[in-house]
Amino acid sequence: MYLVLLGPPGAGKGTQAERLEEELELPHVASGDLFRENLKNETELGLLAKKYMDRGNLVPDDVTIAMVRDRLQRPDCDQGAILDGFPRNQAQAQGMDRMLTDMGRRLDGVLYIAVPDEELVRRLSGRWICRQCQTPYHTVFSPPAKGGVCDACGGALYQRDDDKPETVRARLEVYHQQTSPLIDYYRQAGLLVEVDGVGDIETVSAALLEAARKLAK
Ligand code: ADP
Ligand code: ADP
Ligand code: ZN
Repeated sequence: MYLVLLGPPGAGKGTQAERLEEELELPHVASGDLFRENLKNETELGLLAKKYMDRGNLVPDDVTIAMVRDRLQRPDCDQGAILDGFPRNQAQAQGMDRMLTDMGRRLDGVLYIAVPDEELVRRLSGRWICRQCQTPYHTVFSPPAKGGVCDACGGALYQRDDDKPETVRARLEVYHQQTSPLIDYYRQAGLLVEVDGVGDIETVSAALLEAARKLAK
């Protein structure tokens, strides 16, 4: 089963993908995590991506599509994957269709997590991420048991550079201009399920899991 988690920055895609990953036994493939891994390892791709990420812009489609294609071709994605942060525009949506077709697969559904902008700013300004396993936390809404330490793996938590207010504004603008048209695109394709992303993490998880199980049938 191939599922896409669609939603603005801060909607809870990473948080929810970790839960769906366990329940559905599918790998979580997050384009942002893949870029940050490349950044950490100072690869050529990482250095290129950094210029765009620092400004809150999208990394060019050709390199993004190639990176995701490589990831989906790894053996752990044989049974499917939960895509998070990809596709982010029309060209990437078409790129994804092409890669799945080439693999003899198809997209099963798109779970759209709807959250208004004011709430996103609150979420992103308090977000802390595990340096090791990328699990997101929030100082108020989802604090770790021990300050600065990941519950899941014991890794150190840090704040992303691009979660500062100026970059958050740029990312929201990019989202509304380039990514949000995909909501209608997938709705028209009959693949979209909208879930209310406001509410506690458990409630949103339950709604997403129910939607994913319906799509699997
Ligand atoms: P968030 O979790 O806040 O939505 P991501 O971790 O998905 O943010 O993305 C962080 C940054 O990485 C984006 O602002 C963008 O620069 C880059 N990026 C991630 N995914 C993509 C993509 N599919 N296409 C282009 N750029 C991307
Ligand atoms: P995305 O991957 O869509 O950018 P994240 O999963 O990283 O979003 O969540 C953004 C921030 O909001 C994190 O700090 C996370 O702990 C917090 N968060 C996630 N879901 C909720 C929720 N339902 N209510 C409050 N805060 C949330
Ligand atoms: Zn961790």
